Amino acid sequence: SIPLGFFGGIGGASKNGILIKGGNYLEALNSVDIVVFDKTGTLTKGVFKVMEINVEQNISKEELLEYAAYAESYSNHPISTSILKAYGKEVNKEEIESYNEISGHGIKIKVKDKEILAGNIKLMDSEKIAYEPVEAIGTIVYVAINGKLAGSIIISDEIKEDSQRAIKELKAIGVKKIVMLTGDNKQVGIKVAKQLGIDEVHTELLPDEKVEKLEQLDRQKSPKGKLVFVGDGINDAPVLARADIGVAMGGLGSDAAIEAADVVLMTDEPMKLVSAIKIAKRTKRIVW
Ligand code: ADP
Ligand code: MG
Repeated sequence: SIPLGFFGGIGGASKNGILIKGGNYLEALNSVDIVVFDKTGTLTKGVFKVMEINVEQNISKEELLEYAAYAESYSNHPISTSILKAYGKEVNKEEIESYNEISGHGIKIKVKDKEILAGNIKLMDSEKIAYEPVEAIGTIVYVAINGKLAGSIIISDEIKEDSQRAIKELKAIGVKKIVMLTGDNKQVGIKVAKQLGIDEVHTELLPDEKVEKLEQLDRQKSPKGKLVFVGDGINDAPVLARADIGVAMGGLGSDAAIEAADVVLMTDEPMKLVSAIKIAKRTKRIVW
């Protein structure tokens, strides 16, 4: 049987915009050792802005942005939203002959008899495109046309207002280690982690590498300690399912993430995780 106090705890949490999918998770929230955060959309707003466009000879910035917008037109990644917004015009999707989104890499399309690639260096490497790495603190989207680099788009995200406070308070209430995992590049990952006081950061991870990292981290917890993963994206569903307590951002989060999660933060604020742990601790005092 479930002690009545658990219902009080779960009800109290839901009034605070925290959905806890069972008394066992409320109990587990009492012994959190390690918290692992995804970056984009979880600690950062996930609302990217185009900061800079660089082009090779023979193409204008407008043209490069247009090709990138065509490539991103079917994606719902935050990167695509920012590129489509900067483009500002309608994409005629009927012109797109084929479309392929490669998770953690980017996009490959065929349009007007041209093959367009838009994505990171992993995509350029796997498609054997020669490039000079761009030096910039931001997410870099390389664009290639017919097997040749045409330019790059630098986009940048902002840290959420309450991320820093959440990390400080998680440590204050007994969390031993705070980690960030991201598919984004090293420069961006390290900068965000430093700004937030995160203990450990792993960058340029593919979705299945995130699961591997999580498994390594899971072995570091104390015998009764729990590991929490907090994420928002479609890519995050496997990691959410693998953690002792998977926490999804409910507003920005994908349906797959919300479904795979044990706890949903309706307002997307990292501080809500602190509230959830505090409610769990209060509930424990009432139940036992
Ligand atoms: P995160 O771990 O930060 O949530 P993702 O796994 O979603 O990041 O993506 C990792 C990286 O893959 C991005 O930083 C970007 O370089 C590349 N990428 C993913 N989707 C796209 C896209 N639609 N367009 C361009 N690049 C993309
Ligand atoms: Mg993500």
